Amino acid sequence: MTSTQQNNSKGKKLDGVKYLLALNQENSRIFQDPGTALERRKYREQHPTEIAVLKCMDGRLNLPVMTNTALGIIQPWRNLGGRFDLGWPLFALTMKDWVDYAINRGRDCLVIITYHYAKGDVHRGCRGFNYDVDAARAFTAELNKQFDSVFGKKVVYTIRCGIETDLDTLILHGEGGEVLDVSSISDHSSENVVEILRKMYPQMPFAILKDLLPLIQGNIEHIAEIKDAKRPITDAEHKEWVLAVGRGFDWLHEINTTLIVGPYDPDLAGAIRTAAGILRTNLEEKRITEEKGIVLMTSAPYRDPAGPEPHLAAEKAKFLNRFSFEIIKKDVPELLPYLQRLTMRVDMNTRQAEVLEQD
Ligand SMILES: [Zn+2]
Repeated sequence: MTSTQQNNSKGKKLDGVKYLLALNQENSRIFQDPGTALERRKYREQHPTEIAVLKCMDGRLNLPVMTNTALGIIQPWRNLGGRFDLGWPLFALTMKDWVDYAINRGRDCLVIITYHYAKGDVHRGCRGFNYDVDAARAFTAELNKQFDSVFGKKVVYTIRCGIETDLDTLILHGEGGEVLDVSSISDHSSENVVEILRKMYPQMPFAILKDLLPLIQGNIEHIAEIKDAKRPITDAEHKEWVLAVGRGFDWLHEINTTLIVGPYDPDLAGAIRTAAGILRTNLEEKRITEEKGIVLMTSAPYRDPAGPEPHLAAEKAKFLNRFSFEIIKKDVPELLPYLQRLTMRVDMNTRQAEVLEQD
């Protein structure tokens, strides 16, 4: 690695990697804090449903933040545009593992399929769908059908949900095609929201519905906070400076920082190229600071610290870093003067990242 890759154009040291490692330390510490751990355990006992969210790589889409939900409750799956297909071998395998994990613990599963847009400007919407919200909605409808045909609606229940990023509002799509903007719910008492959800999702088991409830109430609170803070619209524009490839990034509890590409898409190279292109635009439009630079961060998670799992995680993370770097070098070389590389594996018991390679 040459020294030009570690300094910005003014010759200052880039500090993006340092920032990310400090953030991981802090969020891992919070995750392991006995008080937080007990709180999470209590929450899981009251709300045992396993929740998966399928979403776009877009760094503005942070469901835990948008629903005021603690780290470790919502499991994210990320890809360009939020596009997935149960025919993709790795995606099918991870979904099956996740459902098996839940069933072995006697838990239900809620899958939330999302698309996103911005009400103020079509170009703040989803590049993965060329800003075409109707196309994104149609895609989620088909994916919902695919999930229903594979998993049914009894133990695994799948819903569609839009995310409006100017106000971080969830837009629920009901079984009968009805659409509800969560910000329009004026009475957010449990009784009222349960009533609304029952009408929208008549087939949803009540055990799942009552675990969806706090997410909706959390979103109503979050929208009120965004409105109170009068968040400037520039904060709703792309500002990401990290390209994360792999899995195990849920400690990154920060909005508009990272484009996350999961490893599921058979056209992984295309997804990485698009993400790198968004970072290039962010640089050109001067929406990111030169001090942090741009970080290519790859990660793989593991749960069982004994045996081959952590070693496999290390090999995956290293491969993904080399693979992504080659694509950037060939197709988006404008990033190279700002680029730092970070390769890590993450212990999912602690959310602690271990650095395998960095520059
Ligand atoms: Zn998107």
